[in-house]
Amino acid sequence: MEHFTLIDGALHCERVPLERIAAEVGTPVYVYSRAMFEHQADIFRAGLVDAGIENAHLAYAIKANPNRAVLAVLARRGYGADVVSGGEMQRALAAGMPAHDIVFSGVGKTRGELASALDVGIGQFNLELEEEGEVLAAIAAAGGTSADAVLRVNPDVDAGTHAKISTGKAENKFGVAIDQAVAMYGRLAALPGLNMRGVAIHIGSQLLDITPLEAAYTRIGQLVAELRAAGHTIERVDLGGGLGVPYKAGDVPPSTAAYGTMVARVTRGWNVQLMFEPGRFIAGNAGVLLTRVIWVKPGAVNPYVIVDAAMNDLARPALYDAWHDFVAVRPNGERMMANIAGPVCESGDTFAMGRDVDAVKSDDLAVFRTAGAYGATMASTYNSRALVPEVLVDGDRYAVVADRIDPATILAAERLPDWLTA
Ligand SMILES: *Cc1c(COP(=O)(O)O)cnc(C)c1O
Repeated sequence: MEHFTLIDGALHCERVPLERIAAEVGTPVYVYSRAMFEHQADIFRAGLVDAGIENAHLAYAIKANPNRAVLAVLARRGYGADVVSGGEMQRALAAGMPAHDIVFSGVGKTRGELASALDVGIGQFNLELEEEGEVLAAIAAAGGTSADAVLRVNPDVDAGTHAKISTGKAENKFGVAIDQAVAMYGRLAALPGLNMRGVAIHIGSQLLDITPLEAAYTRIGQLVAELRAAGHTIERVDLGGGLGVPYKAGDVPPSTAAYGTMVARVTRGWNVQLMFEPGRFIAGNAGVLLTRVIWVKPGAVNPYVIVDAAMNDLARPALYDAWHDFVAVRPNGERMMANIAGPVCESGDTFAMGRDVDAVKSDDLAVFRTAGAYGATMASTYNSRALVPEVLVDGDRYAVVADRIDPATILAAERLPDWLTA
């Protein structure tokens, strides 16, 4: 399903020309397709249902794209949320996601975050260490309540993805060592104030190969059997997120059908409610970053196409050497070899080097594709640039769903101490 297409020679999001959004909202701007979020949400569920997995709990990992309009779209599709901070919890609740459908993950939940999540009746805490469980149990017991929790386990599996988005190797900061899980689970389950429901894993992001997921799930199945043998009732297993999306030609992620079939096979007989936390899969290809070419600057080898989007708007290339396709909004059929860079004063503010792209010139519009996940949410105002706005398209209409926050507004939030005003 493709929702960013050429119509009469110009790139559209659904039926809205990107040229219109650029003219009316300005650039840079993130543009999202409602239909694409919905399509991805639906095929993820269908992949599981078609494989016979009926009552899965689907929690969108909202850190991928936490815009409240995006959350409202997914809430209507029956998705809960996986949140990793009190701020994300507020967003999920504001978007109408029921508290009991929210999973609270994260390696550093503060005592304040645990307490307020308990207050609002969050559905599940994914515990990352024993002390966190003890503190949560004490807060709950003091308030005369109890918290539903699962223990996040580190299965020591290499996800085969970029090191900075791998989370399931023994040396990563996430989860508890699998060989300590049974004993720790027993101690946690004995605490008043804590209802231990099962276990969780999440081994990494942008997985293009199903094998590491299968290895991790298989390992967790053994753990479930060990926990049951130790006398525990295991009702839930949270299998995390991580399914990848195509960023460039040749990226072939597993299909949702293949994923669902694998999950059904590996989890047969577990007799638990399975839980999933897809993030990138839902949002990645539902968004582009629309930008305008400022200059085409001659370079030593290739020209530099200097665009008005930068690393502060889309950090992934600088952070992870990530690839985003760069395509012209009105391609003329010609190609050029170019480097693509933003205006920020860092050599790392480079989106592509020596790449064969649509020929563009000053003032042309172009997009970085597959920018719907881990895009706007990582934006900053570095170099005193505006905070990038977001637009959601729905058929032939669109709405600005996050304002551009201009430098004057940011400046106005800063204070001069009176001993510097004289
Ligand atoms: C980031 C994260 C996810 C989502 O990962 P994707 O690769 O975007 O699907 C799911 N669960 C946890 C615990 C995470 O930290």
